[in-house]
Amino acid sequence: MPYQTINPFNNKLIKEYQTHNDKQVEEALSTAHALYKSDWAQGDIKQRVKVLHKLSELMASRVDELAEVVSTEMGKLIGQSRGEVQICADIAKFYAEKAEEFLKPVPYKSDLGEAWVEHHPIGVIMAVEPWNFPFYQLMRVLAPNLASGNSVIVKHASIVPHCAETFEKLVAEAGAPKGAYTNLFISQDQVASIIDDDRVQGVALTGSEKAGAIVAARAAGKLKKSTLELGGNDVFAVLDDADIDKAAKAGAQARVSNAGQVCTAAKRFIIHEKVADEFLKKFTEHFKALKMGDPLDKSTTLGPLSSADAVKTLSKQVDDAVKHGAKLHFGGKKVSDNPGNFFEPTILTHITRDNPAYFEEFFGPVAQVYVVKNDEELVKLANDSHYGLGGSVFTKDMNRARKLASQIETGMVYVNSPTDTAAELPFGGVKRSGFGRELSDLGIKEFVNQKLVVLA
Ligand code: NDP
Repeated sequence: MPYQTINPFNNKLIKEYQTHNDKQVEEALSTAHALYKSDWAQGDIKQRVKVLHKLSELMASRVDELAEVVSTEMGKLIGQSRGEVQICADIAKFYAEKAEEFLKPVPYKSDLGEAWVEHHPIGVIMAVEPWNFPFYQLMRVLAPNLASGNSVIVKHASIVPHCAETFEKLVAEAGAPKGAYTNLFISQDQVASIIDDDRVQGVALTGSEKAGAIVAARAAGKLKKSTLELGGNDVFAVLDDADIDKAAKAGAQARVSNAGQVCTAAKRFIIHEKVADEFLKKFTEHFKALKMGDPLDKSTTLGPLSSADAVKTLSKQVDDAVKHGAKLHFGGKKVSDNPGNFFEPTILTHITRDNPAYFEEFFGPVAQVYVVKNDEELVKLANDSHYGLGGSVFTKDMNRARKLASQIETGMVYVNSPTDTAAELPFGGVKRSGFGRELSDLGIKEFVNQKLVVLA
């Protein structure tokens, strides 16, 4: 895939980027590995977290400028891009403040002697990242690994090279030495060769199941650890006692935010039959009120999809769903009188288990609505999914909410809120949504040597 910036609002090519050849890849690997062996990585953590403090300040002070880079390159609404830049600053600050505590030795009681577990970096980490949160995805990998002393090499998605290049410059400007973070514009074959290299000791990927399976298999072939953050088909459950106005508004926002291209977006709306009509009516009103347009225009509430291919895939999925018996309650088509990658906000109902849509992730503003009779049916439907990333339950009864939250087979459940993210909270899933956790104390422990020392 060529590395190109194409504005999704009008499909105009803005810039094409030079790719890196094998010699440049080797240079990147040897610099990253030499840094890992140096005092920078093996010595005092204070020098590393200082860079994270600076990176946080830099991003927070350039929110507007950086947000425009995101919106122009992948179509995110400008307000949401600002939010993304701010959360990146928060993540950098969080690890700057907390990494030392997370990585300090942990004592263990044992009859064998005085024992503790130390945390050491393991080497170079290869990260493969997607376009949907083009700064946040990079920061989730960079911040904990920079703090622990691992060097990071990144292959970002080919449709966001400007974000990739901008982020690399920011990390350098914050004071990271050469090799701490390297962006490479490379092919999938080059990613495979890097994974094979002995200097690389961990692989992190966020993206599709297909890419995750290929990259994790490659890592496993060389007995290297990987973390995968893949797709999701998150449930947004509305119980009969829920505040329906609140649920309908939050649900609509949770489905169309980032034009629906979020792994933890609410995708399957499972509604109790007693409130189903009211919810669907109010939910549809929110969809009707959306204003499609330029992501840089503050009044726009639904931006374009990230690429023309994304629109094609989504159109086909919706057409197939309808062919297999789903009812098109609202929307359903690509917007044809516009050069951008716009797809109408869409609501599908009456999806049966034999419809391919039932198990598919729709990466765009398409909601699936299901109606259930009781909580038991709700849990059964929620868990009848290959994915297990996040999920939401809307109810006023916290006992019922706790019970359902523990029964839903996902890595994250939020009550009376869409699935969210914060630096201090673990992020990740089960089943085909992947494995491993990012962010929080759990994220920083994924790629460290948890070394036991015993004084017998
Ligand atoms: P991909 O998984 O194809 O892309 C994600 C990243 O993986 C990109 O950097 C991509 O590079 C890279 N990649 C893809 N295949 C390989 C490979 N064999 N070896 C090495 N790197 C690889 O996602 P898409 O952008 O194509 O989106 C498709 C679907 O993936 C979406 O519809 C959605 O379901 C899911 N997705 C999930 C995301 C999440 O947040 N969990 C984010 C994005 C997508 P390149 O760009 O060069 O192909």
